Amino acid sequence: MEEYVEAAIAAGVREIGFSDHIPMYWRTEEQADPTSAMAKGELEEYVTDVCRLQERYPEIPIRLGIEADYIPGYEAELQRILERYPWDYVLGSVHNIGDWDFDNPMKIAQYDQWEIGELYATFFELEVMAVRSGLFDIMTHLDLIKKFGHRPAYDLTPVYADLAGVIAEAGVAIELSTAGRRKPVGEDYPHPSLLRECARRGVPLILSSDSHHPREVAHCFADAREAALVAGFTQVVRFEKRRRFSDQL
Ligand code: ZN
Ligand code: FE
Repeated sequence: MEEYVEAAIAAGVREIGFSDHIPMYWRTEEQADPTSAMAKGELEEYVTDVCRLQERYPEIPIRLGIEADYIPGYEAELQRILERYPWDYVLGSVHNIGDWDFDNPMKIAQYDQWEIGELYATFFELEVMAVRSGLFDIMTHLDLIKKFGHRPAYDLTPVYADLAGVIAEAGVAIELSTAGRRKPVGEDYPHPSLLRECARRGVPLILSSDSHHPREVAHCFADAREAALVAGFTQVVRFEKRRRFSDQL
């Protein structure tokens, strides 16, 4: 984690937030996948480690975040976990459709069992539920379902407009993430049209690189900033103890 902080300082960003993947609270310890998320017993140590880094690096603000999966029916369970720690922000993610972790490269064959248009509709229904759950400060990778390049035959503009409307109404922020550039789809999350729909409705924005390695910290941030400006954003936000502050983009 020190290496990420050093990379952030070197990149000249205003602050860095850690948001490791929350333990798979909807699964038993035996069913949880240790390659995708930390184990249940590691959460406490993760929080302690971030707090320790905050003391060691007074030269850069280090935020304590968590990436939390939205699983319908497990809202209360997640709420109980989130209440236990002093998060600066909670990221809301949809990585699962039923039992299928559709962003897992090992499970890519399961796309063949779906009509892609229906898959997209199912995915965006889950996004809407996640946004409305009130559990999250920032929605991550809003169109993660495109990760491996599957696209529906129909025009997604009305779907994007509806989702952006729900997000604006809920007062939740979104991220513009450069991680998609490093995935088969080869473009930012979310798609420029969805980003534009969010900008039009005044949805708060953060820039994110979703780094899974120190060398990815602030990856392509100059391009991301440009894309945000083109979409119509003029500000970015940051979070401290789950309160939101705005800065010039
Ligand atoms: Zn994620
Ligand atoms: Fe991640």
